[in-house]
Amino acid sequence: MVEWKSFSPHKSQDDKWSESVSKLSSSLLKLSFKLAMTYSLKFGELMKRTGRSKSLKEYLEGSHDSKDEEIVDSFHRMLLLEGHLLGKHDDYYTLLRFLRMRAFDQQKAKDKYLKMLKWREDYKVDVLVKEYKYVEYREVQRCYPHGFHGVDRHGRPLYIERIGMVDLNALLQVTTIDRFVKYHIAEQEKTLNLRFTSCSVAANKHVASTTSILDVKGVGMNSFSKPARELFMEIQKIDSNYYPETLHRLFIVNAGSGFRILWKALTAFMDARTIAKIQLLGSNYQSSLAEVIDESNLPSFLGGSCTCSEFGGCLLNDKGPWNDPEITEMVQANLQSSSAHKTSAKKHDGGSERYKETRHANQAVYEKVQALETGLQDTKMILVGLLTKQEELMRQLEELKDLTLVRSLSDKKVNITN
Ligand SMILES: [Zn+2]
Repeated sequence: MVEWKSFSPHKSQDDKWSESVSKLSSSLLKLSFKLAMTYSLKFGELMKRTGRSKSLKEYLEGSHDSKDEEIVDSFHRMLLLEGHLLGKHDDYYTLLRFLRMRAFDQQKAKDKYLKMLKWREDYKVDVLVKEYKYVEYREVQRCYPHGFHGVDRHGRPLYIERIGMVDLNALLQVTTIDRFVKYHIAEQEKTLNLRFTSCSVAANKHVASTTSILDVKGVGMNSFSKPARELFMEIQKIDSNYYPETLHRLFIVNAGSGFRILWKALTAFMDARTIAKIQLLGSNYQSSLAEVIDESNLPSFLGGSCTCSEFGGCLLNDKGPWNDPEITEMVQANLQSSSAHKTSAKKHDGGSERYKETRHANQAVYEKVQALETGLQDTKMILVGLLTKQEELMRQLEELKDLTLVRSLSDKKVNITN
């Protein structure tokens, strides 16, 4: 790893020259130390600012309830023993979400979970995330204003939809239902993989759900034409089947009498767990929102103080911790390191049933080692910074060495000629 090369000046060169080189090398060493200190101080400051003291993993994982942990563990074991390939979707919170959605019935949760894996495979979700470009985004925003905007007081991403302003005919002129659905999936993936993790880092606690506001001003029975129903049913199906338990709370605001009739009809098809998360409010919604969202995170059209005027409006800005470069850098580094862990774990994973059983028996040890490995990431980042500075210093010293040699050779030449 770190290799300190010793520097020995050429013996035949004159003392004065060698003295000045050794002076220079010592000041370079001091400079390198200073740079390393600055680097680690800056890193420490960043960790302090984002409230991190130990491992990023701790914030991303939060504290697990021991009862939940037990059932997630047994669910995980069951899936592995049945030989299912879980890929990168075997993390604690994904498994927990599927268990919760089926009231901790492992067989029912397994059914939903495996359907989700198959859907991801069939729909090529991972490819879509990387390659899909929703070029009509701006035009879509004009006839369907929606988007993420800051966080609630707990640090959860805040999602807002002004559904009363949807112009469906115009929307279907600039996009198709199929393209909109693809865009919606890409956004869901961004929320799972970037928004939640960035919010966790920013808030110093595990964040894995969204607070949403649905502005239904002007929405009534007539608002749901056939294509509108098709679009909303498709999105509803994807969200509830493949991204379950990611909604913390939904505020429906500006609900008039027309919407309330529609709402009664809609709730007949919704499960009690979802209904319990929804608060139906009329035009006096401001105080309810203020309780959970700071006014700086609330757009002015919902009674807050934010306008995002330089971005053309709050719903076009996508403001939030997921756009803070320092935070996203850390999240990306963590994603890479955990996928590296998964790859190296998988290399040993394809063996016999007996191997799998042994692995399960050693699960506790295995997990501890993984936690330790991730805890080392911070140290690694600092070391990488130090190494870069050291390499720079070494390069400069080598150059100086060469210069010394050239100088001493040319001195000799002068002596011989004389
Ligand atoms: Zn704003």
